[in-house]
Amino acid sequence: MVEVTVFGAGQEVGRSGFEVKGSKTKILLDYGVLVKEERPAFPLSTSPKDLDGIIISHAHLDHSGIAPLFFISETPPIYMKNITKQLTDILIRDLLHLSSYYIPFEALELKTMIDRSRDINSERVKIGEADVKFQSSGHIPGSVNTLIDLEGKRIWYSGDINTIDTALLNRARIDLPELDLAIIESTYATVEHEPREACEKKLVETATEVVEGGGIALIPAFSVGRSQEVLCILQKNRFKYDITLDGMSRTATKMIASRPEELRDPKLLRDAMSRAKWVQGEKDRKKALKRPGVVIASSGMLSGGASTRYMEKVRNDPKDGVILVSYQVPGTPGRILMDEGKYGPPGELKKVKCRVEWVDFSSHCGKNDLMSIVKSFRGNPKVLCVHGEAPSCIDFAERIKQETGHEAFAPVMGDRFKL
Ligand SMILES: [Zn+2]
Repeated sequence: MVEVTVFGAGQEVGRSGFEVKGSKTKILLDYGVLVKEERPAFPLSTSPKDLDGIIISHAHLDHSGIAPLFFISETPPIYMKNITKQLTDILIRDLLHLSSYYIPFEALELKTMIDRSRDINSERVKIGEADVKFQSSGHIPGSVNTLIDLEGKRIWYSGDINTIDTALLNRARIDLPELDLAIIESTYATVEHEPREACEKKLVETATEVVEGGGIALIPAFSVGRSQEVLCILQKNRFKYDITLDGMSRTATKMIASRPEELRDPKLLRDAMSRAKWVQGEKDRKKALKRPGVVIASSGMLSGGASTRYMEKVRNDPKDGVILVSYQVPGTPGRILMDEGKYGPPGELKKVKCRVEWVDFSSHCGKNDLMSIVKSFRGNPKVLCVHGEAPSCIDFAERIKQETGHEAFAPVMGDRFKL
């Protein structure tokens, strides 16, 4: 018998973790954190001794962040793409830097994990008794979905998935055999995104208006994925003004550009990089603050990092603008700015004078694309709707039952499914 247990990401976004267990084989899919305010939360735990393999679907911390915990006294096999290994390393380092007090491992365990990680570029590996296959999931560079064939049962895990082309990445192409169980993300299971072209147009037009009005257009962006996407969009649309890159986005961009095989159009990113100004130190930052142009800087929700340095000037100047380009978690400075037009340290929020815009870029499938994936399933799999707020997961499971007849669930942490 094969059992699948939800270790995390049940009716929540964050701390993804799923255990797949056969009679002799135990595999863990993802092992991430949930960053809630200051204090991170973790998935259920298991002994690293019995693990035949850990698979990391992509570098985002909610899928990878706590995996080094298994490397304190053991070294279980861990599988991820090479680019995921590089990006995970910088993201977890940053997590340790920001919240080391709450994180139950140190840089040494991270290093052991990174050194021991096995590349999955072969697209197919044997883990214990399981045959495991990977396909690109179109979400960020290196992201994969996973198909496990174990003791006659087939289990598919979407990871985070996107089935439309972006400027940076090719979309996920899903080609699956008959399944017994599918674990699918539900981040935007109740939301349809704005069309991609409209988002790109809004970004380029807003940036152009701000810069032509003599201002700085600050684009706070996640260092991994979104910063490179913004660079590519500006380049594709022949944006002709200054573009400055700052923060952790710089390291991530160099890493991603060094893996052209992961990209839709590596030349587009290379061209964008060569015309951008790279901040090397405080002097460059001051220069960027003095003349009109676009600044792309992490973090994406203004919760720290280089973007907050620019915000100090931008917030007070009506000529300047902030263009938010990703989902803003409730309670973050970015979300407060978006909803209330205010910014500042807690207790000292003040109305900003600059223009504020939000563009609905997403690297996750929207409502209809998620349903199309489920409708493409062959066989009669049980479907677990995970990695979404409770209403998203529940609504998605309900629609799957009605529209496809599959048994569908919105499981919570600890729920177990037998196949
Ligand atoms: Zn992700």
